[in-house]
Amino acid sequence: MKSWFSFNLILGLSILQVHAQPKDTDSLFFRKIFNEALLRGHSYSRLGELCKKIGPRLSGSDQTEKGIDWAVDMLSSYDFDSVYKQPTMVPRWQRNGRSYMYIKSPLLTKLISGTDSQKAKANLEINKKAFPHSPNPEYECKSYLKWLEGQSFDKTQVPVTLTAMGGSVGGTFMGDLVVVRNKQELDSLGTKGYLKDKMILLNRAFEEDNIKTFFSYGSCVTQRVYGAIWAAPYGVKAVVIRSLSNSCDMHPHTGVTYYEDSIIKIPIAAVSTATADALSYFYSIEGPMWVNFDLKCETLPDRLSANVIAEIKGNQFSNRIIAMGGHFDSWDEGEGAHDDGAGIMHCFEALRILKKIGYKPRHTIRCVFWINEENGMRGALKYAELSELNNETHVAALESDRGGFTPRGFAMDSALLFRTRNYQDLLRPYGISELEFGGGGVDIGPLKKQNKNTQLVALVPDSQRYFDVHHAETDVFENVNKRELELGAAAVCVAIYIMDQELD
Ligand SMILES: [Zn+2]
Repeated sequence: MKSWFSFNLILGLSILQVHAQPKDTDSLFFRKIFNEALLRGHSYSRLGELCKKIGPRLSGSDQTEKGIDWAVDMLSSYDFDSVYKQPTMVPRWQRNGRSYMYIKSPLLTKLISGTDSQKAKANLEINKKAFPHSPNPEYECKSYLKWLEGQSFDKTQVPVTLTAMGGSVGGTFMGDLVVVRNKQELDSLGTKGYLKDKMILLNRAFEEDNIKTFFSYGSCVTQRVYGAIWAAPYGVKAVVIRSLSNSCDMHPHTGVTYYEDSIIKIPIAAVSTATADALSYFYSIEGPMWVNFDLKCETLPDRLSANVIAEIKGNQFSNRIIAMGGHFDSWDEGEGAHDDGAGIMHCFEALRILKKIGYKPRHTIRCVFWINEENGMRGALKYAELSELNNETHVAALESDRGGFTPRGFAMDSALLFRTRNYQDLLRPYGISELEFGGGGVDIGPLKKQNKNTQLVALVPDSQRYFDVHHAETDVFENVNKRELELGAAAVCVAIYIMDQELD
């Protein structure tokens, strides 16, 4: 143990000596990168084209294939050494239009169509009874009631907007809806036989005391991914989940769900956070409410699609690669502007800037638009498979898939983190100060499985607003800030330069 430690200490010191400090010219070089991104950047206008000319990019859709052609043409209009497609089959699931659930609740009917005194009485009940999840129940309930004012419907069956989870089976349900706050409550009621032939709302809310919102997402995402698997064995016929968001609004958020072959496949969808609070409130007063649910989605046979790649050849180690990228596909609810149009534009722009300012990389620098990250990872798996087949070595891979918000820093594997920290005084003026241990991402993960020495990196932008728009109809170009996007692209470019200098 001790000799292992000494060996590593010596190795570490020798790395320190070889890669001691940034060069004197690095500070000017970083300034040049940021100037190019902020004064003459291409990321924002290209993202605008992607979002508005192409739009949502669900794997396997005609629109996505049109988008891939656009991406090849767009990248080919720059003077990169090569631009090419990497074909792969992808799954094909489609939503088939907006779905609604209709609910019957005497309290709700009173709230929307009763006499003034009935409405006042119902409102009073709302004020008296606290929501399990919200400090301000009246507000949440009112968001839903306000939304209803703009809808036309039969007052005894009131609509709720749904978004099907990606991969869900379609189906219908008519019967009682039971609200459960988390998996423990689901198991407790399920074991008692209380959920047989019912529908459930899984209503676990984000923990708002987490400073980094990805932690809240991490603990709630299981209800989306495994909700149908958890519930079906108890005889549950359909599931709706509370959307995974910090924001209290009327936009339901989609995302992938899983099934197991041995467990019956039941439909699963999401309701908005404000709707989930309203339903939870009605349930707390009235108990199970009657619902009529119809989900129209379906899965079609797989289809041929592709990753899109642009690269600049390395002048020292052409078969040693530094890859950077994000995913080209998106969910169909919005335009995939933050998730992950921003990520692919960060990396395209980083490659463009390196070329524009005349940098000659030691390694081959590759920008990858991976396909099918959201519901299958087929692009990432094909990329790793072909890399191995072609005897390539990935010295590092960076993924940007946390939105186009102000860059704060990077999460990195330890060997690279150790060296990048030598640059922290040069990075701080650009607001890049969080250099943390970690790294990784869905699309670059398979590279690490092939080669444990590959250094994985994730761009870490500010996370406070990401889940407001994540997988929702609000993930549109208008919600991306030009400067924040450009700063992200420059940050990626600087990180790629450091990797190219520091790694062999
Ligand atoms: Zn993403």
